Amino acid sequence: KDKKLDQIIKTIEANDIKFLKLELADIHGLPKSMAVPLKKADDVEDIVNDGLLFDGSSIAGLASINDSDLLAKPDIDTFSTIPWRPEVKGTSRFICDIFTTEGKPYDGDPRGVLKKSLQLAEKRGYQFNMGPEPEFFIITKDENGNYIPADEAEYFDVEPLDQGTDIRREIVLGLEKLDFNVEVSHHEVAAGQHEVDFKYADALKTADAVITFKEAVKALVNKLGFKATFMPKPFLGINGSGMHCNQSLFKDGKNIFYDPDTETQISQEALYFIGGLLKHAPALSAILSPTVNSYKRLVPGYEAPCYIAYGFKNRSTLLRIPASRGLGTRIECRSADPSCNPYLAFAVLLEAGLDGMDNKIDPGEPTEDNLFAYSEEEIAAKGINNLPTSLWEAYHSLEEDDVVKNALGEKVFNQFYNIKRAEWDSYRIQVFDYERDEYLNV
Ligand code: ADP
Ligand code: MG
Ligand code: MG
Ligand code: MG
Ligand code: MG
Repeated sequence: KDKKLDQIIKTIEANDIKFLKLELADIHGLPKSMAVPLKKADDVEDIVNDGLLFDGSSIAGLASINDSDLLAKPDIDTFSTIPWRPEVKGTSRFICDIFTTEGKPYDGDPRGVLKKSLQLAEKRGYQFNMGPEPEFFIITKDENGNYIPADEAEYFDVEPLDQGTDIRREIVLGLEKLDFNVEVSHHEVAAGQHEVDFKYADALKTADAVITFKEAVKALVNKLGFKATFMPKPFLGINGSGMHCNQSLFKDGKNIFYDPDTETQISQEALYFIGGLLKHAPALSAILSPTVNSYKRLVPGYEAPCYIAYGFKNRSTLLRIPASRGLGTRIECRSADPSCNPYLAFAVLLEAGLDGMDNKIDPGEPTEDNLFAYSEEEIAAKGINNLPTSLWEAYHSLEEDDVVKNALGEKVFNQFYNIKRAEWDSYRIQVFDYERDEYLNV
């Protein structure tokens, strides 16, 4: 028997685990799961070997109604015990890969999309690393039943202004039980907004971690009587929540984005990778900023990018190269937000970057000015293009970009495109209070 499986069975026995959750993500990156009651610890062996059949057509973007039977097979490396479930007769979980009933990898599985992209990197000898910074709000309801931020603190504030200190403590302790390596947590810029950073790892492990992170934060905050939201822009006039994606490629344990012999200590490969990210930025938007609401975050003045450019210390550009060198050399993409599906997001970032390296795409000169200080005309005169300003613009850009489409594969592209078009159509017919305020007297 597999050594890892043996260890898992021992853990289940020792901790009185009675439920095994099989988890997968829908096209929005939201976790879905089914729980199998364990009669005895080694029941887990059959579940790992055989998987579990399920109806995929009821999960957003996964399968069509006339071809809906799918097989969820646990990835044995994703075993963990869920800290917010009861300790007695507890619950453990696996994240699953999805197969057809014939046992072939299912091409509509977002996790499978990322695995396929990672193979392209592996073929070139690369490990693709990802360090995400998912931000979120802790909110509560006022006396009128409207959601408001749960505190009025600002960036790096401390108690008693920061009412989230104890909540973040519970989050960090819970994440550590889930084997997260938490690097830092702090209050963010906006009222009620927080950030908890965890250490980068290879992109598959990190994508699993993002799914788990959001699930854990929501569950732990809910237990304390508040609500956590990863909505990109929940409130007008204050910062939204991003999920900056820090990326690097390692080869034989060395960071190939680092080159001590250039003036900036950034390698030519890193510049080509940036070239690829810039070239494909409009199409990437559809995946990295995938909701109607995402584009309300991407407006000038809130540390969120609006322009397709890169810089070093610049937090007004789409891409930033943080000051860290050596192993920590990385490219930060600042447009991504936590409403994205991390499997799809990391897959398209990687393939856009690799396209830049394969085709030696020149990123041009870095931009070191605060772009928010310029007018539209001045930005245009510099030859800098806008990021898409709406979901409509983004999914049409995706339609025209073969590299990004190809990274998704035909099935996931079609499902994603149709769902996003429907989202946009449902949004564009709404009539809001704002419009009555503006236009009632025309
Ligand atoms: P910021 O200054 O943008 O707020 P943070 O310190 O909050 O940055 O987050 C940096 C993230 O980058 C962390 O998740 C960290 O683990 C990650 N990181 C560090 N080195 C690398 C690397 N070589 N590749 C990818 N991610 C990295
Ligand atoms: Mg059923
Ligand atoms: Mg940060
Ligand atoms: Mg932040
Ligand atoms: Mg950042």
